[in-house]
Amino acid sequence: MTITRQSLLYESKVEYGGWTINHALGCSHGCKYPCYAMSLAKRTGRVKTYEQWCSPQPVENALDLLESELSRYRGRVESVHLSFTTDPFMWDADTQAPNAEMAQLTTAIIRRLNDAGIRVTVLTKGVYPEEFIDQVAGLHEDNQYGVSVVSLTEEFRRQWEPGSAPISARLDSLRRLSQAGTATWVSMEPYPTPNVDPSSADPTALLEAVGFVDKAVFGRWNYSKLVNSYDGVDFHYASVATTVSDWAAEHGIILHIKRGTPLSAEHEADILAIR
Ligand code: SF4
Repeated sequence: MTITRQSLLYESKVEYGGWTINHALGCSHGCKYPCYAMSLAKRTGRVKTYEQWCSPQPVENALDLLESELSRYRGRVESVHLSFTTDPFMWDADTQAPNAEMAQLTTAIIRRLNDAGIRVTVLTKGVYPEEFIDQVAGLHEDNQYGVSVVSLTEEFRRQWEPGSAPISARLDSLRRLSQAGTATWVSMEPYPTPNVDPSSADPTALLEAVGFVDKAVFGRWNYSKLVNSYDGVDFHYASVATTVSDWAAEHGIILHIKRGTPLSAEHEADILAIR
């Protein structure tokens, strides 16, 4: 199933937001933090159930809209983020492979933006497909590719991000993009507490696994009774934020810590800016 829209490009007001494209309604990853985008889609009546949210509907007129909006916004757009309310390289848990329809549409959008001299910042809990990595050298040299990962444990992923790509596959594809010479980043939020994921008490292994990136975002898990019920929640986030801050300094990684998380005032970086 697909949908049509009236517009595509918009300026997001979310933290570190900017010009953004969300070219599908829904996301097969079905995160249970819960997903802010799903809550919004439910509130506005665009989806009714979790199951419906997990059956993504790509925007079939996305490329036509992009064409006309590139003319309308000529000279105003320097970079575009993909995506805040869906996932551009969504994983298909049934086939254990990237969702081909989304990957094709995302690649076409990136190409068209790059052809117009506009760079992109991408974030996924899926995997960058082989064919995409193979052609990345021909895309804009200032594109930035990221993955979200808050835990290395598959048990955590199965419970909280049930439709997303296996964590090792996400990281492998990002490492390959880094090895191809592109800028890479990692989003480590919403970072859990030990009552949600025991491994979160010590982020060392996670930080070592993502130590090759150029930029990182770190943020606590907000608005969760379970997280807030953890005895020592404030100490936990202060301690992990300090470890993340030290790690970033040691590796020369540009770090943004999200508002509401300890050390956020010391780490306000423009993640979407050129590295
Ligand atoms: S990957 Fe992002 S958009 Fe998709 S379900 Fe998870 S939080 Fe929502």
